[in-house]
Amino acid sequence: MIAPTSFIKILKDSGITDKLVIETMCNVDRTKFLEPVLQQYAWQNQTLPIGNGQTISLPSIVGLMTQELQLKSSDKVLEIGTGCGYQSIILANLCSQVYSVERHPSLLKLAKKRFKDMQVYNVMSMVDDGSCGFLNQGPFDKVILTCCADDIPMHLVDKLKIGGIMILPVGESNEKQDLLKVIKLQDKIDIIEIGKVDFVPMLEGIGS
Ligand code: SAH
Repeated sequence: MIAPTSFIKILKDSGITDKLVIETMCNVDRTKFLEPVLQQYAWQNQTLPIGNGQTISLPSIVGLMTQELQLKSSDKVLEIGTGCGYQSIILANLCSQVYSVERHPSLLKLAKKRFKDMQVYNVMSMVDDGSCGFLNQGPFDKVILTCCADDIPMHLVDKLKIGGIMILPVGESNEKQDLLKVIKLQDKIDIIEIGKVDFVPMLEGIGS
């Protein structure tokens, strides 16, 4: 285990009970996603800058979202918002394949290097506006958005298998957002509110 015991406490105090999620998060070195000056904060429950005005998500929220996805080792997962690649690598440890889309080419370049350096080979990633998913891929067992949508994106619900789960923040970017769990059923979707969160907004088009 790489993480200090204080990190396990942060996760448990945030309601993360899934042992496999806790174990995985304790074995993924969060310092590797941060610039040297920020690495001292890696094991605290903080969002930290990763460049292009974007942030690495709170460990407590990464854990909660991962837990709520109820991952199976055979799952194929779509992630919108690769960012630094932290969440992608946690997912990659718990499922079969991760397809991750990021709109900032410079962030994705760094994330891809981390996937290689950390020998994570089951993350497929690309630069695109992820609002329609990952080019020619789908359906997925699970979908996770790590940026905040205005509303539940039905284009992405369409990419889910029946019985599939999507976890996403929804709301105004400057106000408190709702973390939602969407379960796709045969002829409807179930929506469960998990809590309040604060994510960067989901933006249109490709960034710099
Ligand atoms: N998953 C990251 C969090 C990254 S922050 C982590 O593990 O910490 C959210 C990311 O979503 C940002 O990098 C942002 O550029 C990206 N993003 C925002 N809108 C997007 C869109 N339409 N398509 C793809 N990525 C998007």
